[in-house]
Amino acid sequence: MAKIINFHDIASPQWFEDTLDVIQELYEVVPFSEVQRFYQGKSKSKNIAHLTVDDGHFSTYTIIYPALKKRDLSASIFVSPKIITEQSNFWYEESGDYEADQLKTCISEVLNVSVDRLKDFYPRSVMKTLTLEQNWEIIRLYQKKFSIPTKKYQYINTSQLLEMEASGVFDIGAHTQNHPILANETDVISRYEIQESVKNLGELLGRKITTFAYPNGSYDLDFGSREMEYLKEVGIDYAFSFQFKDLNIKDHLLSIPRYGLYHGTKDFVRKKLKYGNIWEPLKAKLFNNEDKHRKLIMKKLQNHA
Ligand SMILES: [Zn+2]
Repeated sequence: MAKIINFHDIASPQWFEDTLDVIQELYEVVPFSEVQRFYQGKSKSKNIAHLTVDDGHFSTYTIIYPALKKRDLSASIFVSPKIITEQSNFWYEESGDYEADQLKTCISEVLNVSVDRLKDFYPRSVMKTLTLEQNWEIIRLYQKKFSIPTKKYQYINTSQLLEMEASGVFDIGAHTQNHPILANETDVISRYEIQESVKNLGELLGRKITTFAYPNGSYDLDFGSREMEYLKEVGIDYAFSFQFKDLNIKDHLLSIPRYGLYHGTKDFVRKKLKYGNIWEPLKAKLFNNEDKHRKLIMKKLQNHA
C-alpha cells in the first residue's frame, strides 16, 4: 500500500506529533523520490506514505519543519511565490472567519441575487463556485461594510522558504499565484495562475520546478484536462489532487490522489488512514459533502462561468 497524506495549517504541535506517531506506526514515511520510484515500478517497500503540506502557512515553518527534522523525515510542500514575496493572504484565509450571515449579504450584493436565494448554502461553498475577482470584490465589500481591517500575513516569508529548501527536509512545488478555483477561471487566468507560479517559484529557488498541487483539488470541480495541459507546457511532471485512494501505478501523474488529515484523535486518524478509501466515497454517497453542495449551488445560482 502506498499513499500520499496531506496537511494544511497545523493548529496544535501535539496533534501533529500524535498524527506522525500513527502514520509511522502504519507506514514507512518516504521522500518524494520514492513516490517517483513507485510510479516507475521500482519501489521495493510495501507500506509507504509520503507527506505533503499545502499553502505554506506559518505553521509549516514553526511546527511541521522542526517535527520532521527531529524524526529525520521529509515531505513535499506546495506554495505560491506571489503571496510569499508580496506578503498578502489568500482570499480564503482573508475571509475564513467572516460571519456567515454578514458574508451572505456581501455575496448577494456582488452577485446581484437575493439573500433568500443563498439561505440553504454555506457562504464559503458559494465562494468556491466563484472567480478570484468576484471573491476579492466580496471581501473588499465586507471590509468596508463592517469596518474590518485586512488581516496580518499568515504564511511563511522568503527567508524561511529558502531555509526550508536548503535543509533538504522539503521538496518544494508550486500551488498557483492566488489560489483560485482554477476551473472557475477563464483560459487566460487559469494558465497564468499555473504557469506564472511555476516560473516565479523557479526563479526564487534557482532551479526547475517539476511538482504542483491544485488548489482544493477535486477533479472536474476544481481542475480538469485544461489545467493538466497548462502544467505540461511548463514541464510539471507530477501534480497532486484530493481523493481518498491509495496510489496505483496506473494513476495519471498529473492527478495523484491524496488523503487529507486535518483533525481528530489518534484513533480517528488511524481509522481514516486505514478505511478512508472505503468510507469516504460511501459518506459522499449518503450525505451532502462539500463537492455535492457546490454542484447544487452552481445549478441553483446558474452564474457559473
Ligand atoms: Zn491550497
